[in-house]
Amino acid sequence: MKVAIVHNQEEKTLKILPELMECLASHQIEIDADHPEVVISVGGDGTLLSAFHRFNHRLNEVQFLGIHTGHLGFYTDWRDYELVDMVESLKKNGTSMPSIQYPLLDVVVHYRDKENSGHFLALNESVIRRVGKTMVADVLINDRLFEHFRGDGLVVSTPTGSTAYNKSIGGAILHPELPAFQLTEIASLNNIVFRTLGSSMVIAENDWVTIIPDSADDYHLSVDQLAMGNRDIEKITYRLAAEKIQFVATRHLPFFTRVKDAFIGEV
Ligand code: NAP
Repeated sequence: MKVAIVHNQEEKTLKILPELMECLASHQIEIDADHPEVVISVGGDGTLLSAFHRFNHRLNEVQFLGIHTGHLGFYTDWRDYELVDMVESLKKNGTSMPSIQYPLLDVVVHYRDKENSGHFLALNESVIRRVGKTMVADVLINDRLFEHFRGDGLVVSTPTGSTAYNKSIGGAILHPELPAFQLTEIASLNNIVFRTLGSSMVIAENDWVTIIPDSADDYHLSVDQLAMGNRDIEKITYRLAAEKIQFVATRHLPFFTRVKDAFIGEV
């Protein structure tokens, strides 16, 4: 088996890397930074996001596995003191590794200057906002005008991303077995003149959302950790991606156990 390792620079992470390398070598698991079968992320959920973007051109060939060097995360099934168990489980399952798949978000953006357009995959979410002034945009669902939005911005998230930025702005938590995505407002203006739905919306598998902002050159677009600033965005279309991310599921915590552990704790 061939694995690649993606890690952050935290002290705790750097401390366990030599032990991880030694353990992999003693189990005849090879390191291959370009063509791995399993991508091991060591750090936090943010590190797993980086690992996803590094290998998102090989989603059919790779499975991801997260080791958390802090608390347990949403994309991480192993803790830093469980390296031997983790490597043994990889070795034991070999090429017939159990896996679990999660939905991704497909993002297509067109700029008004026509110089280029962009196509991205998001594991957590994509955010469009205008920092200096109110963002004004038409929101279309399946090419039909749904509402005129005024406010700070809009977040479109995957089910696994629903516990990240989406949750901070009042969106719902979506179980990742649901093939759906969510549109959530950031500080919308609602008064006698301007009206938006106000609630977050869960969009079905075959539907799509298009955002057409008024012309301005200071939109900020992000896709997970990737940030793109100061462009005049003509339109962005969001839909559920054809691709999915696959995680090694030799051990897998139920989703709502993770949610409880992360946000509620002992009851
Ligand atoms: P970061 O500041 O390191 O990450 C922000 C926090 O979000 C970290 O604690 C991270 O967990 C956690 N996180 C990431 N994905 C998550 C998920 N699916 N569910 C629950 N928590 C999650 O920034 P980053 O490493 O560049 O990560 C980018 C992400 O930060 C974005 O995708 C966005 O979701 C999130 N973010 C949140 C807010 C907000 O809540 N107001 C604002 C901006 C961005 P770890 O500590 O395990 O890495």
